Amino acid sequence: MDVFGSSGTRGVANEEITPAFVLQVVAAAGTVLEAPCMAVARDTRSTGRMLENAAVSGLQSVGCDVHRLGVIPTPGAQAYAAREGMPTVMITASHNPPEYNGIKLIGASGTELSVSELEVVEEAFLSEIDGARSWSRTGDEFAVEDATRQYVEGVREAADREKIADADLTVAIDPGHGAASLTSPRLFRELGCRVLTVNAQPDGRFPGRDPEPVETNLEDLGRLVATTDADVGIAHDGDGDRAIFFDETGRYIEGDAALAALADAELGPRDATVAAVNVSQRLVDVCERTGADLELTPIGSTYITSRIQQLQAEGVSVPVAGEGNGGIYFPEYSLVRDGAYIAARFLELLADRPASELVAPFGDYCNVRLKLTYETREQREAMLEAVDRVAESEAADRNTTDGVRLDYGDGWVLARPSGTEPVIRIYAEARGRERAEELAARLYDAAEAARDDAK
Ligand code: MG
Repeated sequence: MDVFGSSGTRGVANEEITPAFVLQVVAAAGTVLEAPCMAVARDTRSTGRMLENAAVSGLQSVGCDVHRLGVIPTPGAQAYAAREGMPTVMITASHNPPEYNGIKLIGASGTELSVSELEVVEEAFLSEIDGARSWSRTGDEFAVEDATRQYVEGVREAADREKIADADLTVAIDPGHGAASLTSPRLFRELGCRVLTVNAQPDGRFPGRDPEPVETNLEDLGRLVATTDADVGIAHDGDGDRAIFFDETGRYIEGDAALAALADAELGPRDATVAAVNVSQRLVDVCERTGADLELTPIGSTYITSRIQQLQAEGVSVPVAGEGNGGIYFPEYSLVRDGAYIAARFLELLADRPASELVAPFGDYCNVRLKLTYETREQREAMLEAVDRVAESEAADRNTTDGVRLDYGDGWVLARPSGTEPVIRIYAEARGRERAEELAARLYDAAEAARDDAK
């Protein structure tokens, strides 16, 4: 797909993502989805209102009535879509820098549109489908005032309120000036926690930190936890569908370790979990120990949700799934990544032990990331063929869902061509650096030699 990547369409606002572009994409979506009414929501980005207006106009022009939700986390917009049975346009660039913005399309069930549904919208957009109605049949507009309150209530009711309140927690929250600024501090107060905040004013210029909740952007939160009696730190991305944690000493918890701890608490022998092909050995080990099946998909959240839906349709229980970037699904709650709900589930685990102890078993894993650039298509092909040859000769489980992943039991390696750059990326993980480097080197050395021969 040219317009929609696996997680919507994003770019620099007013360069790639212009009001005219948003209007046309959303009008195409309104035309092919054939919904009489759709909702439009946004995160806090300073270009959000401008693009929201374009989306509203686009929908009205094709005869669609519009519910304006205003600023709300993506999972809040998804909850609204599901509750009202109304497809929803979310104006957000998720974790990208402040100058970015984009479009996420949510179906009437509350999940992001699948890849095949996005292809239909893209086709309509590219063929400049004309869904414009006569003046007397254009859409109307309604402001929805309480979507954030309804969202907070929904998460609060779904969480184990008693357990969290009994744990008597002080929680430090960094919503990064994003949409969760309006919801997470309130939610955790209502769940019986004492709440400290940093970067919690909604601000589309993101003055305190970048919207991506990675360790280097979260020094303020680590310091806040370390210098107060906070039991845990919670950080969200710009649209509030991810959650990243700090332990009670102010130490950053790897997203993969938090996912493993949550999965370890959820999974049993008859369960399955779904993750992308770059899944951590931590989750592989949890599945080994609990007897749960691990299903791998291509990288991208829409692939994960589609696979969860397939498994559920087959009657398979999928209590938890997701990625090590803080985007975790609890499909029995919702088929949506919800940063506030993820955090609530993590707090439930703190009733029994401090965060540092909870994640300690998932701590000493080592990741290696390498990349090899190429110049010609011949080099790229030669490198991928070399990777395939190594893969066939190795005593490892081979998975070719997205690139080539080899699982050795105690570690894994993945070689995958980048979708955007002339680069093949090689990832490896094991307990101990030496083993991880050794695994990475097997594919790296073969691919490098093949590239140099192909010159
Ligand atoms: Mg996000």
